[in-house]
Amino acid sequence: MTGNPGAFQNDTEIWDAASSIALSHVSGEPSVSITNAMTVDVEDYFHVSALAPSIHRDSWASRESRVVGSTQTLLAIFERFEVRATFFVLGWVAERYPQLVKDIAARGHEIACHGHSHRLVYEQSHEEFHKETLRAKKLLEDVTGSAVLGYRAASYSIVRKSLWALDVLVELGFAYDSSIFPVRHDRYGIPDAERAPHRLPTPGGKVIVEWPLSTARVLGFKIPVSGGGYFRLLPYWLTRRGLNSINRDEARPFIFYLHPWEIDPDQPRVSANWLSRFRHYTNLDKTEARLQLLLREFRFGTTRDGLAQLGLLSANN
Ligand SMILES: [Zn+2]
Repeated sequence: MTGNPGAFQNDTEIWDAASSIALSHVSGEPSVSITNAMTVDVEDYFHVSALAPSIHRDSWASRESRVVGSTQTLLAIFERFEVRATFFVLGWVAERYPQLVKDIAARGHEIACHGHSHRLVYEQSHEEFHKETLRAKKLLEDVTGSAVLGYRAASYSIVRKSLWALDVLVELGFAYDSSIFPVRHDRYGIPDAERAPHRLPTPGGKVIVEWPLSTARVLGFKIPVSGGGYFRLLPYWLTRRGLNSINRDEARPFIFYLHPWEIDPDQPRVSANWLSRFRHYTNLDKTEARLQLLLREFRFGTTRDGLAQLGLLSANN
């Protein structure tokens, strides 16, 4: 599972590297002066929304958990590249593996909140969302002894009809959110949402800092280049070109995300419809090598530091 850094394991990785070098002449070298945000949504393969119809949540506790091992692999990779990242940890995971959360924090990474149950925000009532988000935030703060400032919803489920959730986040003391995806998708997205990090007025008249998942204009199209399935499914050169255009043409940082299960090709297979299988299982064996290419080419830090540099979070947050 852990690749030898610098070694290519198959033809696709060589192609990724070759196309990346070839395209550097077209799109320019990535800017190293801008620090982008590296984020990880810490959950197991069986928490994923795309597989939810095939995996009842009552079965979670009895399934083989792989989140600790894959997260430790990511920690080792980040250490090798001297990158500090933000880990949005699911409360369900923190409750069972508090030592993992301590390990992440001890290595200097930011701990943020990915909710407790991985239920979509727009499928919860205000009261349910308030209760489970508070539970997850308190749990993470008790384990680490530090305030948790950031939130990311399960499957980016803060959409137009669930913007009310932002008021709950402010009420619970979160300083920023990173749940809004300015794309069209069957489960999430606000296609015309602001793309850059910004202060977002909430429906209740408050303000929260929002760092939307990154999209870029490539070849005339707005493409989600910020990670996850897009990182696994799109050719590396396209991701690179999109991210490079955010840094160079728009002169601002991007936010990148991935999940521990995305670097775990040996995870148990779950039967699901073809679209979910395609989204979940394609290129699991290539992601770790692609991530190392990305870490070599771009500069990364935590979301919190990135927002502070942009003047959106005060230094004493
Ligand atoms: Zn998630």
